[in-house]
Amino acid sequence: MRKTIIAGNWKMNGTVPESTALIGGILNAGVAGGKVEIVVCPPFTALESAGKLLKDSGIGLGAQNMSEHKSGAYTAEISAEMLLTLGVTHTILGHSERRQYHFETDDRVNRAAKAALAAGLTPIICVGETLEQRDSGDTEKTVGDQIAGTLAGFAADLLKKTVVAYEPVWAIGTGKTATPEMAEDVHRFIRGKIAALDKEAANLVPILYGGSVKLGNAGGLLTQPNIDGALVGGASLKVDDFVGIINAL
Ligand code: PEP
Repeated sequence: MRKTIIAGNWKMNGTVPESTALIGGILNAGVAGGKVEIVVCPPFTALESAGKLLKDSGIGLGAQNMSEHKSGAYTAEISAEMLLTLGVTHTILGHSERRQYHFETDDRVNRAAKAALAAGLTPIICVGETLEQRDSGDTEKTVGDQIAGTLAGFAADLLKKTVVAYEPVWAIGTGKTATPEMAEDVHRFIRGKIAALDKEAANLVPILYGGSVKLGNAGGLLTQPNIDGALVGGASLKVDDFVGIINAL
């Protein structure tokens, strides 16, 4: 009923030639067009060449962030329209690294997600607690507030086109992964929060898990009932690892 999505967040990795090689490897692996929706999110500088390579491949192309504005005096920002012309289909929003290093807030993510949806892009909205918040028993409060803030004012038809990624901050790039049970508990909680906004949408919105997903742990995580795929960072930079995770499904 829900889509299964494996998305690769390359972060600030990959020159244009390196990105071209990585995409070539994924295309050669023949994983496109199966039951798993695949999305790669290279840096902005590689989106144009990636868009050409991925055209008609069945693999989605994601940006790692997007402006909430249409155009104007916003130095260094990138609009939805600019992304669309490169063949971009998705955009990550509110990644914890954007929240931590660039002070992005739920409000900004909310406005950018609305701009993305209005332009026909699929937002992948990231939420997740820090270790401190988990240790003080505030995981649900933190994630619940992030879901309420980032999805505020979404009409049901927009909610149904949204993807959420639960990424515990303490598990990103650290090698620490939530156990399948820990992750499933939060995914179930998030689905409940979405259900409070719209029941039908809650059944449709894919909720991805992110945080040190690799070949060895993907199977256990991705077979949980409320985990509909993964947002993969480090392991998406190696063809064999990324393709292996897709094949684990
Ligand atoms: C991410 O950047 O979204 C991520 C989950 O990274 P990693 O898989 O490297 O922890």
